[in-house]
Amino acid sequence: MPRPSPLDLPAHHPFGPHNLPFGLFTTAEDPGHRRLGVRHGDHVLDLAALATTSASPHAELLTAPSLNPLMAAGRGVWRAVREALLTAVTEPVHRPTVEGLLHPLDEVTLHLPFEVADYVDFFASEHHASNAGRIFRPGAEPLTPNWKHLPIAYHGRAGTVVVSGTDVVRPQGQRRPPEEAAPTFGPSARLDFEAEVGFVVGTGSRPGSPVPMADFADHVFGVCLVNDWSARDIQAWEYVPLGPFLGKSFATSVSAWVTPLDALEPARTAPPGRDVPLLPYLDDSGSEPAGYDLRLQVELNGETLSQPPFATTYWTAAQQLAHLTVNGAHLRTGDLYASGTVSGPRPDQLGCLLELTGGQGPWLQDGDEVTISAWAPGADGSHVGLGEVSGRVLPAAG
Ligand code: CA
Repeated sequence: MPRPSPLDLPAHHPFGPHNLPFGLFTTAEDPGHRRLGVRHGDHVLDLAALATTSASPHAELLTAPSLNPLMAAGRGVWRAVREALLTAVTEPVHRPTVEGLLHPLDEVTLHLPFEVADYVDFFASEHHASNAGRIFRPGAEPLTPNWKHLPIAYHGRAGTVVVSGTDVVRPQGQRRPPEEAAPTFGPSARLDFEAEVGFVVGTGSRPGSPVPMADFADHVFGVCLVNDWSARDIQAWEYVPLGPFLGKSFATSVSAWVTPLDALEPARTAPPGRDVPLLPYLDDSGSEPAGYDLRLQVELNGETLSQPPFATTYWTAAQQLAHLTVNGAHLRTGDLYASGTVSGPRPDQLGCLLELTGGQGPWLQDGDEVTISAWAPGADGSHVGLGEVSGRVLPAAG
């Protein structure tokens, strides 16, 4: 009887050959050597070693210490690499080589897989925007007049994007409780998470040339999960009139795995119906379905809090990309843009504590660990797993 191989996965394993997300890892034996890897089951395939061993025409890209060179190479190369990987993990002739390049997931350290260029965070879920509007502006219309006409966003801080597993120190700052006349300074007492989906730009664009929705898949390399940690008390005091700043910029966590768009093709779905006519650059009424059916799950200290459905998101990632470039701002390899908090219509589908507690708390305590995971429907009843994003809250700096 042949010995069991880690390449033989149970049918419909969420990290099977139909998925093959990319990451960056080191081993205990060689902690200084960051190299690209591909997740297969509960193992990491050393992509750099495979590219060298197999004399891949893309070896120079695949032996780089980040995903950026591969991401910059464009969709034709992404597809060629994905095809070669599929062959490597499924064709028996490659089995001895590939088996020797697998590392158990729990024996490697995962790193931030790409160098973040710019980071933008949208506000694309109507359920979240409405709920947040009711809490932050009671008595006013929940949605601002612009909301159904353009995908609203703010610029985040690229340099504080951290990989899953990184501890997050409770931020300090100014906050002014409603009953107080003047602000005080101290650790945030209303620390929150936001469950989001991130899109990672591979191919840049030319300055002055907007990227139309139809070119989305030529520019976006893949998808990750995002936790946009938010200090609600700092945010509430500082955000008028220019939007979030220090209440968000202390840390944003992303998953260690970037799932290729091609792996999520079976999860494409129509976005919600449009309530107002859209300007031509955002009008997707005649387009292929551009939403993604991603099923998120939020856990706090191992207990499920919520299951936000990304399919309910009003603005699609293609519309977000078109909007963020429509003024001529160009894309760079490594740009990250996130969806904003994903919330569905039901109470068990809300993507942050602000909504889950009606703005009343309880909020995150020191030592709390938040984990966001997700899966998407794949072909033939399979699931496509998205790598989780997890982080623990540490006490504020003394
Ligand atoms: Ca957010």
